[in-house]
Amino acid sequence: MKTTPYPHLLAPLDLGYTTLRNRVIMGSMHTGLEDRFYNYGKLAAFYRERARGGVGLIVTGGISPNRSGWLLPFGGTLNFKGDVANHRRVTSAVHEEGGKILMQILHAGRYGYQPLVVSASDKKSPISPFKPRALSEAGIEQTIRDYARCAKLARDAGYDGVEVMGSEGYLLNQFLCARTNLRTDQWGGSIENRMRLSLEIVKRIRAEVGNDFIIMYRHSLLDLVEGGNTWDEVVTVAKALQQAGVTILNTGYGWHEARVPTIVTSVPRAAFASLAGRLRLEVSIPVVASNRINMPAEAEGILQRGEADMISMARPFLADAHFVAKAAAGRADEINTCIGCNQACLDHTFSNKRASCLVNPRACHETELVYAPTMKQRRVAVVGAGPAGLSAATVAAECGHDVTLFDASDSIGGQFKIAMQVPGKEEFAETIRYFARKIDLTGVKLQLNVRVTRAQLLADGYDDVIVATGIKVRKPPIEGIGHPKVLSYVDVLRDKAPVGKRVAIIGAGGIGFDMGEFLLHDTRHPLPLALDVWAREWGVDMQVGTPGGLVPPEPAEPVRQLYLLQRKTSRPGAGLGKTSGWVHRAVLARNGVVMLAGVQYDRIDDQGLHITVGGEQRLLSVDNVVICAGQDSLVELMPSEEEAKAAGMPRFHKIGGAALAAELDAKRAIKEGAELAARL
Ligand code: FAD
Ligand code: NAP
Ligand code: SF4
Repeated sequence: MKTTPYPHLLAPLDLGYTTLRNRVIMGSMHTGLEDRFYNYGKLAAFYRERARGGVGLIVTGGISPNRSGWLLPFGGTLNFKGDVANHRRVTSAVHEEGGKILMQILHAGRYGYQPLVVSASDKKSPISPFKPRALSEAGIEQTIRDYARCAKLARDAGYDGVEVMGSEGYLLNQFLCARTNLRTDQWGGSIENRMRLSLEIVKRIRAEVGNDFIIMYRHSLLDLVEGGNTWDEVVTVAKALQQAGVTILNTGYGWHEARVPTIVTSVPRAAFASLAGRLRLEVSIPVVASNRINMPAEAEGILQRGEADMISMARPFLADAHFVAKAAAGRADEINTCIGCNQACLDHTFSNKRASCLVNPRACHETELVYAPTMKQRRVAVVGAGPAGLSAATVAAECGHDVTLFDASDSIGGQFKIAMQVPGKEEFAETIRYFARKIDLTGVKLQLNVRVTRAQLLADGYDDVIVATGIKVRKPPIEGIGHPKVLSYVDVLRDKAPVGKRVAIIGAGGIGFDMGEFLLHDTRHPLPLALDVWAREWGVDMQVGTPGGLVPPEPAEPVRQLYLLQRKTSRPGAGLGKTSGWVHRAVLARNGVVMLAGVQYDRIDDQGLHITVGGEQRLLSVDNVVICAGQDSLVELMPSEEEAKAAGMPRFHKIGGAALAAELDAKRAIKEGAELAARL
């Protein structure tokens, strides 16, 4: 018999009337495709690819049972028969690939970004401008009927079950917690009353769909908000849900309005699995672990330790549709790992854009970005093995082109090698590991330590030259910029130049904030941070002894005094990621970083940095000034127009930082590389 390093993860799960082929769940993610009927073909292709990749059970993005449950105006709803046919395209695609799929029923409650919102009480959430209407008793009864009808229609559409979304602060969580449930009738007050809505919904769904249909309930084990539930209440609800007819208990951590991060890269891997393990001792139905589990070894470890029966991973399936198949074949080193950046998934969702993935631009674009075998092989030179060049080279080779990839340095990765030095960005190393393996697999000819010249490219007879040489660091024209106390971010992050205790950072973009976190890191705590250190810093009681599991944070003494400066008058950090920027701002604020906007840089000298701010001259007497003032494109290889017109020239293309340094990030770099290579 073939042995596998992941025997627990790959073991089937027999639910009596149906068997799941393994223990892996692709967790629910709103892709933006489920909201419009004309996108269901694309949605079906997205799920088909994941089912083909071997995942045991897929959960769709949230579908509302009625209009008041919409997250966004006119969001995906299943409340009448006419919608069934669209959903059938999705279920058929998954079943044809041997997979199983649940439809998530999501009622957003007061998180709805639309005027019809309802909740347990009329308390507005801090993350939506719309004040909810408190549901009347009749409204509650109608909501229960809507859930049951939605589940029945899901069954008609061919789904293998439904997931009832009860965590993350959505409607059912709003009823479950005293924070948002101020009712004095039979739906509020004691935990027995507060959980009544969840239980009635599960019972009514079970009555409607019969016993051979999966009902998974996503239960909040750690609310991470004041007025959340205690562990005893969490367990009471779980036991009652089991009694009411739930088949599988999925788990959730943190409301969307919580001020503790739960999924960004800086959250330790599998941070919350031990809570699933505790709950598993209290119930006899399968329990699912979730959040920040992104590689099969982690998942296997959780199952092996008995902390869960199944593992839910969501974003890892945007990053790699074939995660399970690769793990099963013993090729985990080929997995394109989710790095927890949120840049192309959650940041898109919360900006009402279609989700995708920074490391896999095909995600949710399966029918549009196709890596098809080429009819005519071309000789391609890719110059620069940063994210843009790596993406272009490996996709071009995958399509069958003859690709040589050059880099001036002694290893691949470009600026990602610098980014991964930042606390909380350790996962970026996985992307470099993935591309290194992909280079081997696709037969890209890699030439390191070669600073390519244009003459060389012209002499070597390439059909296409892809210039992916990235950027050069910008040196702002400030008097005294050559002073020995001035360092660039590359000096600090890559070359580990010594830095004093008082530091001014010029530039408050993504790299300025990263520099802040790097300089504030207390090196006595190795990276990635251990769970107990992380929990202390953010004020999390992992025992959930307090309501919501919150305790006062115990931040360590700041190791440096930092000033973070920008010329713009806007709030520093306003341009950071929608779903992760607040984490970076919170870390710097907690460490007493002085953030100044509207700064004019006058000069740098032995005394420090002289600035003018608000019309007033100031001296920041710092030991070092670190420049994080953006970049300019590095395009020395591009031919002039005359040269390009000359006969026999290869076609030259620019991607990533070489094409445009402004607003550059790895999301754009990787996407541009893949799109260009796919159409060569
Ligand atoms: P680069 O990564 O700059 O790669 C260019 C490559 O070309 C280099 O390897 C270089 O050696 C090579 N090269 C140059 N000239 C030649 C030549 N003549 N011959 C051969 N080789 C040559 N982005 C995000 O999206 N999210 C983040 O969280 C994030 N954090 C960051 C944190 C830090 C500290 C830094 C520095 C960057 C961060 N970025 C982040 C930005 C991201 O790394 C860049 O946008 C991305 O690397 C740009 O990719 P690129 O391929 O265009 O260029
Ligand atoms: P950036 O975001 O463009 O920020 C550059 C900073 O330098 C700004 O604060 C700018 O503010 C300042 N600046 C620009 N020109 C200057 C000049 N001549 N003199 C003084 N200050 C100047 O660039 P970055 O921080 O270098 O980041 C590079 C790219 O990497 C970004 O586009 C970003 O998307 C990506 N990145 C992303 C993340 C992430 O977490 N998503 C993290 C790091 C990096 P003022 O002009 O107001 O002074
Ligand atoms: Fe993961 Fe980032 Fe891709 Fe989202 S965009 S799935 S967080 S790698």
